[in-house]
Amino acid sequence: MSNLEYSNVKPINNLIESFHRLPGIGPKMAQRLTYYLVRMSIKEAETLANAIRDLKEKVIYCSSCHNISDINPCSICQDTTRDSSIICVVEDPLDVVAIESSTVFKGIYHVLHGVIAPMKGIGPEDIKLHDLVDRINQGNVKELVLATNPNVEGDATTAYIQDLVVSLDLKITRLARGLPMGGDLEYADFVTLSRAIEGRQVLG
Ligand SMILES: [Zn+2]
Repeated sequence: MSNLEYSNVKPINNLIESFHRLPGIGPKMAQRLTYYLVRMSIKEAETLANAIRDLKEKVIYCSSCHNISDINPCSICQDTTRDSSIICVVEDPLDVVAIESSTVFKGIYHVLHGVIAPMKGIGPEDIKLHDLVDRINQGNVKELVLATNPNVEGDATTAYIQDLVVSLDLKITRLARGLPMGGDLEYADFVTLSRAIEGRQVLG
């Protein structure tokens, strides 16, 4: 990596490179974190290493909604008090966290793990869209809430899904436009998100 300052200690360089690959971590921050870890006790370092290993070994994807979980189906899909006739379609697991924290939505989810973005070479087959129609057909689904982020790619994905399910007997809604255009669902505040869910609008 070009703009990293290398030391002559290989394990240091390895960790700096690993940190630098994480989102939002620049070269200086990668360096600072690495040197912080050098000073850390072996016990603390092991706790951190084990937490990362645990994450990779135990976190799985729910086979029904594709959200991250440590059980399959996930706790939301298994929760019989939730309304499984309403599926909220979101881009990624952090959107589920955001919507859940608003406590307004009582249905279940479908996590796409991305959006359709032709300019980036991402088509419908590259996101978790293939089994959405199967889920709708198999279940007693009455409403599909399209909750992609309010930007061009989110809107394009919404339009694609609308086309996909147009022949099904289904109410299709979109989150109300209280959300800032170009903004990210996961950063929306509690009140805005709650209003957007409660005030969701029927499409088409
Ligand atoms: Zn699930």
